[in-house]
Amino acid sequence: MIILLPILFAKGFNGVKIFFGMENEELGLPGISILSLQDIIIYYIVNSVILLMGFIIGKRSFCQHMCWIGPFMIIGRKISNWLRIPSLRLKPENKKCIDCKRCNLTCIMNLDVSNLVQHGNMEDSNCILCGECIDECPKNVIHYTFCSQKKAQVPEVAIEK
Ligand code: SF4
Ligand code: SF4
Repeated sequence: MIILLPILFAKGFNGVKIFFGMENEELGLPGISILSLQDIIIYYIVNSVILLMGFIIGKRSFCQHMCWIGPFMIIGRKISNWLRIPSLRLKPENKKCIDCKRCNLTCIMNLDVSNLVQHGNMEDSNCILCGECIDECPKNVIHYTFCSQKKAQVPEVAIEK
């Protein structure tokens, strides 16, 4: 449908310009939108910083510490918690947890998920609700729920180690 709509609106299929918006007249090369050597250097410096942060701090360190959208998401989440607005959340059935820590290994945001489970509160401003921990858990401990923060919490349990 996404492919058909533009064809319909364009009154027919005329052609596809693969390098649209990426013609580089200065270098005479198609597909390269960077215009100067200076821009290429800046591009590689930025990418190297992101890569280095990943090696030093851990997975998704750029998302957690540098992304400018993060603060807005955190503020939005805090407001929704404060006003008790129902939203998509994670809820643990922590009594079933065997502390295998598979959720920690699979969490793409590098969170201590098993610790959140044991505390009965999955609220973490860095959680992006991707659901990877839900799929990975062998005991079906973590579930999606749509409710206020308070309703998503359960009493803390001490897991026997
Ligand atoms: S994967 Fe499931 S059972 Fe294992 S520690 Fe995490 S929540 Fe507990
Ligand atoms: S939903 Fe995703 S980001 Fe959140 S704790 Fe689970 S694996 Fe980590």
